[in-house]
Amino acid sequence: MSKKIAVIPGDGIGKEITASAVEVLKKIDGIYHLDLSYEYRPAGGTAYDLCGSPLPQDTIDTAKASDAILFGAVGGNKWDNVEPSKRPEQAVLGLRKNLGLYVNLRPVKVSSVLAEYSPLKPDIVTGTDIMIVRELVGGIYFGDRCESEIHNGVERAWDLENYSVPEVERISRFAMEAARKRRHKVTSVDKANVLATSRLWRRTITKLAEGYPDVALNHFYVDNCAMQLALNPKQFDVIVTSNLFGDILSDEAAVLGGSIGMMPSASIGEMTSLYEPIHGSAPDIAGKGIANPCATILSAAMLLRYSLDADAAADAIERAVDETLADGWRTPDLYKEGFKKANTDTMTEEILKHIR
Ligand code: NAD
Repeated sequence: MSKKIAVIPGDGIGKEITASAVEVLKKIDGIYHLDLSYEYRPAGGTAYDLCGSPLPQDTIDTAKASDAILFGAVGGNKWDNVEPSKRPEQAVLGLRKNLGLYVNLRPVKVSSVLAEYSPLKPDIVTGTDIMIVRELVGGIYFGDRCESEIHNGVERAWDLENYSVPEVERISRFAMEAARKRRHKVTSVDKANVLATSRLWRRTITKLAEGYPDVALNHFYVDNCAMQLALNPKQFDVIVTSNLFGDILSDEAAVLGGSIGMMPSASIGEMTSLYEPIHGSAPDIAGKGIANPCATILSAAMLLRYSLDADAAADAIERAVDETLADGWRTPDLYKEGFKKANTDTMTEEILKHIR
């Protein structure tokens, strides 16, 4: 049976980098016989221009009916003055909500080739291989809030964090299973010395971990974890944490690899999952053909691994990206003297040559 991929390029460089990733998927399909088919749908500012909505119902329906979604990026200055509910970025939030995407996965892998772009010293960062598992649909981002009220004669605002046991169990189970496919270690990050939700989080994951005797669980407070990511990132395998802490830690960890043009991500749901680079639509370089396609190509590899169980095909893509970098090819975001300069198309062609 054909596997349907909804391709949602979005705005700006989204169109350029998803085109590269689809070329790579097509080549992989020819070798691994995955029988992939593609349906393109608009989102973001492009969709707003077409039909007045950043996330048309047809895009949602197509996404839901597909086996996986390859997403580019949305946004751009052109839509700065559009009313907030119709801004391009609403497309991402709308897809998360409609598809029930409850896990955000961010792999952070720093090879010796990328280590020189890291702000950390090569000996500290080389060999880092972390999977950040962030809870995506609960916690303080989705709790009740008050923008402004008068309390005891002064104005205040508040946001409410709540987590239920089933919510923590679901994300914890995901992290444990992920660790089983890696180095069997989970670090749960919370602020249990202060927050009640963190204490419930810690109790729940500790209990759940009893069912995973082959996975080692440890606990870090979020402030210490932020520090340890910079001091000794190689100590981590899987990190699991709440929506708020995950938002911050995953951006900190993304810096370790040196360029956001290299960082893929996945948002996993109970039905269809979505794969996208961590960067935005980069309006400053859109249309110039110089965007780094690697983050999106690596997101396509995650799509094969997590939605289609095609591990060998995913490995082949990741290896091809590594080998292309090792050959010295660099897009302008990573280019330094002595390397071979590539634009988006050249980089894609070189990666295609390494796929076997
Ligand atoms: P950005 O990630 O688009 O760009 C930040 C910087 O990184 C820019 O200098 C850009 O040129 C560079 N960059 C990003 N991706 C690159 C790539 N693949 N190759 C080479 N260079 C790359 O962030 P921003 O400028 O803050 O945001 C631009 C727009 O994207 C905004 O409208 C923002 O809301 C949106 N955005 C969308 C998403 C998403 O769709 N998921 C995520 C983040 C930002």
